[in-house]
Amino acid sequence: MMGWVIFGITLIAAAGWIGWRINARRHLSTAAERTRRELTTRTNELFSFQELSYALFESLEQDAIAQPAVQYLTRFLNADGALLALTLDEESPLRIVAAEGTLELLREKEFSREGAGLITVAMRQKHVEIAHTEGMDRPELVSGVPVEVAAVVPLRTHGTTFGVLAAVRDTAVPFSSEELKQITTVATHASNAIENSRLFELVKTGKEQWEATVDALANGMAVLDGEGRIRRANRALAEMVDQSIPEVMGTQLCGTLFAGSAALEEHFACARRHEACQPITVRSPLKGRTLRISAAGMPGTGDGWLVVQIEDVTERDALEAQLIQQEKMAAVGQLVSGVAHELNNPLSSISGLAEFLLQHEGPIEAKSKHLKLIHEQAERAGRIVRNLLAFARRGPAEADYLDLNEIVRQTTQLIDYELKLREIKLETDLASELPTVLGDRHELQQVVLNLLTNAIQAVDGNQAEEPRTVRLVTMEDDGSTVLVVSDTGPGVPADLSSQIFTPFFTTKSQDQGTGLGLSISYRIVTSHGGQLELSETGPDGATFQLRLPARSAAELLERNSPGS
Ligand code: ADP
Repeated sequence: MMGWVIFGITLIAAAGWIGWRINARRHLSTAAERTRRELTTRTNELFSFQELSYALFESLEQDAIAQPAVQYLTRFLNADGALLALTLDEESPLRIVAAEGTLELLREKEFSREGAGLITVAMRQKHVEIAHTEGMDRPELVSGVPVEVAAVVPLRTHGTTFGVLAAVRDTAVPFSSEELKQITTVATHASNAIENSRLFELVKTGKEQWEATVDALANGMAVLDGEGRIRRANRALAEMVDQSIPEVMGTQLCGTLFAGSAALEEHFACARRHEACQPITVRSPLKGRTLRISAAGMPGTGDGWLVVQIEDVTERDALEAQLIQQEKMAAVGQLVSGVAHELNNPLSSISGLAEFLLQHEGPIEAKSKHLKLIHEQAERAGRIVRNLLAFARRGPAEADYLDLNEIVRQTTQLIDYELKLREIKLETDLASELPTVLGDRHELQQVVLNLLTNAIQAVDGNQAEEPRTVRLVTMEDDGSTVLVVSDTGPGVPADLSSQIFTPFFTTKSQDQGTGLGLSISYRIVTSHGGQLELSETGPDGATFQLRLPARSAAELLERNSPGS
């Protein structure tokens, strides 16, 4: 009996164990199935996310980015509708650029950022808005568009909110936390892609504006690489060489415009060393134009790259030359009365002595003494006339090695009579050795004459007890040749000192001044690479300083070369 009982118990236990095993196995297979399904869902999600990423970053058009984002929400999140809205800037309204499913009708609609609805709230609050129907109250996505369930995520990068991504359901099934995570992830991807496209647009617009601005400039502009080849050029530059922009690309600027130029190469080398280089004026023999060129190194680009500005100064130079000539003729007019008087003395000596010789038949020694005097006086008269003609001469600028002392001497001869007539004392202290200067004799003579005339006019207004002295000093200073012209006149008032070099600025009456002397002198001196300044002024007089540099042989060649 006992045996049967044990057998029975064993049988029941075995049956229980087998049942448990079967149950456990069934349970396990359901769990595996769930895991497998979960895995498939995740893999699908991963693939669809990957696809979405490709779609988002494939285009730089905002609308083309927005569309795949909303499609993803309707397809993979069981959303009945989705939309993406953007603002252009802080002020502009929200524009719905993409909408799918039940929200499709809202596409292209615009909404005020201040209006009611989950979208504008999410924009303002800058956090995710989740809402669903409570009792009779249906939340509104935008004013007048009620929904059952909604999730709205702001689109933002670098602290700026520029739109929203929204998903809605028409059934009362709220989005799970997993689904909300996915919406947020899609929003983050879309934000980055849209920000990329905005930055691209910004750079593109900036580039277009830069090109339009540079093209609108009347001056030629070019970017040169380290070998002097044109890498960028504006329209004005292309027009200067009668070619199109693509045609000038890659050509040598020096060759295209000048058939090579030593002075220009030297200027470019100076700019490549990032030094402050004076613009240079060079005549283009190929184009028959006078061009003023200034180059500067371009930091942040390749080795030795330059940005070059080219101004066509042909007409301006011609106009200036005309002004210089006008001013010269005005000075000649002023000088003529003095010179006529000056010539009167030697000429009356000549005629008097000649008459004397004709009437008297004396010994040959007495005659030769008088003949010598006649010769001397005739020479002097001839010199005065030659000086006057040389000064009045009109012609292109010529470069030569010059002695400034000689120019000073020649010029003072012209005003000798003026000084005597006005009882003005001229003191000169000319250096025995001066570095030769490179320049145009007549132009420099005009500068000295302008400075002297101003000094004479200044002291001429002095009271009887005040000194009437004009002083001329030449010296060498630091390799440069310097001329100092000072006077004992009233000086230049401090508030006028910044204006005296401006064309047509004058404090003199119409018959005394044109206001061009100093501005023309300044132009002449700077074109010689020198400086002209009012170095001192006060109630005891004014001092002007003219400084001319030692010039290289290359520049002499450049100025004298044919066509330049
Ligand atoms: P202008 O002599 O025809 O007036 P400038 O250009 O030579 O023209 O000179 C401009 C102005 O500068 C003069 O009108 C005068 O006011 C001032 N100026 C020039 N030189 C002197 C000087 N040596 N002393 C005082 N003022 C001067």
